[in-house]
Amino acid sequence: MSLSIDLHAHSNISDGLLTPSALVEHAFDRNIRVLALTDHDDTSGLAIAEVETNRLGMQLIKGVEISVTWKKRTLHIVGLKIDPEYAPLKEGLAAIRAGRHIRAIGMAAGLDKVGIMGSLEGAYEYAQEGIISRTHFARFLVNTGVAKDNKAVFKNYLVKGKPGFFEHQWASLEDAVSWIVGSGGVAVIAHPGRYDLGRTNMLLLLEEFRAVGGGAIEVVTGSHTPDQYVEFAKYAQLFGLKSSQGSDYHGKGISFMEMGRLPALPSNCVPVWQGWSEAEFLQSSFSETQPQETFAS
Ligand code: AMP
Ligand code: MN
Ligand code: MN
Ligand code: MN
Repeated sequence: MSLSIDLHAHSNISDGLLTPSALVEHAFDRNIRVLALTDHDDTSGLAIAEVETNRLGMQLIKGVEISVTWKKRTLHIVGLKIDPEYAPLKEGLAAIRAGRHIRAIGMAAGLDKVGIMGSLEGAYEYAQEGIISRTHFARFLVNTGVAKDNKAVFKNYLVKGKPGFFEHQWASLEDAVSWIVGSGGVAVIAHPGRYDLGRTNMLLLLEEFRAVGGGAIEVVTGSHTPDQYVEFAKYAQLFGLKSSQGSDYHGKGISFMEMGRLPALPSNCVPVWQGWSEAEFLQSSFSETQPQETFAS
């Protein structure tokens, strides 16, 4: 396995299972040498992750994954190379986290109504380090025997129309991008293939994203199929956006993909890490390891 880059991963500061240090060690073991920690709406894992990447001779890309509402849909915007101390970003994320608490109360009330009591306290038991998310509710519901696994619990309890779903307004696309870009970072649309937008809305989203300062889209991610790598590489090219790749690792059993398994970006992509000093040492090994066969598979 060649050394590689992973620009999307979660620790237990959000809904991952590993602490930030353990996540960095896991990435190292999977031959990742440039890692972005991108917890949902929270940057408090970055300081410890940096200590650990320095210790192991890795490069940390400071990241975050911001929850956004766009046309009544929830989208995720990843920020890479952010400055977590930039005040508008810090304040924006703090407001989103406060909203998460209110939403969790609403979710628990919905679950109470169908006779599932104690889910607020139960979910918070798993969310000691940072944000509260649906994943923490999922863990509570699985561990109390309400549902058999993570997949089933989302489908039956935590998505629109189900008892534990609570409609919530996240940040605007424009605000999220401006916090990221204002802090010196690059804004990336996370896993665009998961939003089920249709071509017209995807074009509208990409147009608007670029207009407000967005820089890249995730092309190769744990939640895209090989056909979607090709599809989103074309969108990136069409809009002059750069391309990112990341596993979206959350931990054993709840991830879309293990780290270190992603194929290279399609050759028509401009990598979002082009020109980054942190990733310079990977460039040569990348051009060598970009055979077509990774896309045929
Ligand atoms: P939240 O931001 O609180 O709405 O939680 C969203 C998180 O839940 C995502 O980042 C995923 O980690 C997880 N998630 C969302 N949908 C599913 C699903 N269908 N199955 C498993 N995990 C999911
Ligand atoms: Mn998540
Ligand atoms: Mn996401
Ligand atoms: Mn993610």
